[in-house]
Amino acid sequence: MDLEDINTVAVLGAGNMGHGIAEVAAMAGYDVTLRDIEEEFVQNGYDQIEWSLGKLAENDQLSEAEADAALERVTPLVDMAEAVSDADIVIEAVPEQMAIKKEVYAELENVAPDRAIFATNTSSLSITDLAEFTERPERFCGMHFFNPPVRMDLVEVISGAESSEETLETIEALAEDIGKTPVRVHKDSPGFIVNRVLVPLMNEACWLVHDDEATIAEVDSTAKYGMGLPMGSFELADLTGIDVGYHVLDYMHDVLGEAYEPSPLFERKVENEELGKKTGKGFYDYEDGEGVQIPSDEQSDLVEKRLIAVLANESAKLISNDVAPPESIDEATKLGAGFPDGPVKMVDEFGIENALEALEEAYETTGHERYAPAEYLAKRADEGGFYESDEDSDEVDFEAIRVEYPGDMVGHIVLDRPHRMNTISNVLLEELSAAIDLLKDDGEVRAILVTGEGEKAFSAGADVQSMAGDGADPIETTELSKRGQSAFGQFETCEMPVVAGIDGFCLGGGMELSMCADLRVASERSEFGQPELDLGLIPGWGGTQRLANIVGEGRAKEIILTADRFDAETMGDYGFVNEVVDTDELEERALELATDLAGGPPIAQKFTKRAMLAGRDDTEAGLEYEASAFGHLMATDDLMEGIMAFMGDGEPNFQGE
Ligand code: NAD
Repeated sequence: MDLEDINTVAVLGAGNMGHGIAEVAAMAGYDVTLRDIEEEFVQNGYDQIEWSLGKLAENDQLSEAEADAALERVTPLVDMAEAVSDADIVIEAVPEQMAIKKEVYAELENVAPDRAIFATNTSSLSITDLAEFTERPERFCGMHFFNPPVRMDLVEVISGAESSEETLETIEALAEDIGKTPVRVHKDSPGFIVNRVLVPLMNEACWLVHDDEATIAEVDSTAKYGMGLPMGSFELADLTGIDVGYHVLDYMHDVLGEAYEPSPLFERKVENEELGKKTGKGFYDYEDGEGVQIPSDEQSDLVEKRLIAVLANESAKLISNDVAPPESIDEATKLGAGFPDGPVKMVDEFGIENALEALEEAYETTGHERYAPAEYLAKRADEGGFYESDEDSDEVDFEAIRVEYPGDMVGHIVLDRPHRMNTISNVLLEELSAAIDLLKDDGEVRAILVTGEGEKAFSAGADVQSMAGDGADPIETTELSKRGQSAFGQFETCEMPVVAGIDGFCLGGGMELSMCADLRVASERSEFGQPELDLGLIPGWGGTQRLANIVGEGRAKEIILTADRFDAETMGDYGFVNEVVDTDELEERALELATDLAGGPPIAQKFTKRAMLAGRDDTEAGLEYEASAFGHLMATDDLMEGIMAFMGDGEPNFQGE
C-alpha cells in the first residue's frame, strides 16, 4: 500500500497511548477514528487530544487553525464497525492483556476492510502470536510508539514471523509521514530494542542493591553522572512505573530464560504495590520522603562495569540474533530513552574487552545466568569492538554532526541531532570546529553548506540540558560563551564562502550559528528568534555583536530585546535571510547556491571575506586591508581567467592561483 492510499487511520483504545497516536496522525492530515468501549472513555481521550492540541498552539508549535483542523479530523466512536469500516490502517492500543487483544482482533477481523493493515502498539506481547488472532498475518506488524507519542520521535516497527516486507515498509512510511523516526526490529523478540536494553539494566540495578554490592544512591549517581544517562535507573523505574518494567521482564524471563530472572527487590516492590511516582512510593519516597535525591559524587566503578556489562550482553544478543544491527540499536535507544550515545557505542568506548572481562568475572563469582557472556560478544571482542573499526578509512567519526560531500566542491555540514531539534551541545561545538578544519584542509572543497537534519529545526538553540551538567560556575559559562563564539566564528574567518540552509526553527544559539554564514537561504516555514532575554540571559554566542552587522543595530535590538519569533519573510525583509524559498525547494536551492559560490574565485573570495571582517570594527583598517588585497589580486591567474571569460562570454574556471 502506498502512502497516497492511506486516508483513514483507526485507533483502537483511547487511553494513554491511543489518544496520543490519534493526535499525531490527525496533525499529519489523516482522518482518524478513535474507538473505545464506552462513550465516557472515548470522550475522555478526545478531550485529552483537544487539551494537548491547545497546548501546542499556545506554545506556537502549531497555529490555532492547524490545531482546530487536526481536532476536526478526529471522530470519537464506540461502535467498532463504524470505527473501522473505512480504515486503511488500524492501530491497536488496548490494554496489554492477551485475552483482551484476542477478543478485539476477532471482532476487528469481521468488520475491517480486507485491504487494511493492522498494527499493534504492544510493548511486550509477541507480534506473531497476536497476528494469529487475525486472518491477515502478512498484513500485521508491530508499531511501537513511545510515551507520550506527541513528543517522542521513535517508533519501533516490528516484524512478526509472517509480516510482509510491503506491510513493514508501509508502516515505516506512515511513521515518517507523521513526523516520527521508524527503526526496524527485524525479529519479534521480547522487549524489541529499547526495552530489551532498559529493562535488564533496571533489573541489574536491583540485583546490585539486593546483593549489597551498591546502594540506590551509588547506582543512580553512577548512571546519571558517571555514564551520562539521562536518569538514574531507579529514578527512571519510578517514573515509568515499576510494574511496567516488571511486566516486560517477566515476559523476557518466560521466553528467554534464567538470565532475565527478576531480582527479589524488583519483585518485592511490585508485590508491595510500591510502583513509583504514581503510587507515591517506589525506590524513592514521594509522599513522606524527599523524592528523587541523587548525589553526584557517589559514583562506583563496580556499578559502571556491571551496567556496561548488561549493555554489552544485550547488544550482542540483539545483533547476533539478527533482531537489529548496531546502528539501529543505538538510534532507537537514543531516541526512545534519551541516551546521549547508544549502548553499542558506549560499550565500544568503554572497551568491549573490559565489558567482557566484567561479565566473566561476575559469572565466575556469582554463577548467575545473567552474567553468562553471549558468544558473539567474545567474537567481537577479538575484533576490537562491535562497530567495524574505520582505521583504514580516512573518514572522521562525528556523532552530533555529519560531513558530506554532495559534489562540485561543496563540503556539507549537517547538524545531526534531530531528536533534540539539532540543539547545540558541547560535543556539537567541538565537532563543528573539527569539521571546519577538515574542510579547510581539503583541497577539493571550496564552499561550505550548513543545514540541520530533519524537518523541525535548523537548530533550536543551545542544548541547555546537556550544558547545565557543567555547573553554573560563572568562569565556566564565560568559557562556554567563548567556545561558542569562536567555533561559530570559524565560519566567518574561514576563507571559503559559507551558506546556511535553514528549515524550521532557527533560534538562540542556532540563529547565532547562522549569523556566521555568509549567505542564508530559508524555507518559508522557518522561524527565527533570540529568546535568551526571555530566560534572563543574553545571546552569548556572538548574537549581541554579529546580528547588528547583518540587520543593523535597530533591528538587532528589536529581535534581541523583544525575544519574539520572526517568520522567514520578515527576516527576509530585515536582510537577515538572503532568499526565502518554498519548503520543498530549500535543500536544492541551498546546495545550488553553495555550488555556485564554490565555482567562484577562491583568492578573491578569501580577501573579500577578510577585508569585510577587518573593516567591521574599524573601517579604516578594513579599507586598508581592501587596498592591499586589491594589489595582491592584480597578480593572480584567476584575474586573467575572469577577464578572459568575461570578454569571451564563457564560464570562468578559477583555480585559486
Ligand atoms: P490504557 O489503559 O491507558 O488505555 C487502554 C484503553 O483501551 C482504555 O481506554 C480501555 O478502555 C481501552 N479498551 C479496552 N478494551 C478495548 C476494546 N475492546 N476496544 C477498544 N478499546 C478498549 O493503556 P495504554 O497505556 O494506552 O496502553 C495501550 C497499549 O500500548 C498497550 O498494549 C501497552 O503495552 C502499549 N504501550 C504503552 C506505553 C505506555 O507507556 N503507557 C508505551 C508504549 C506502548
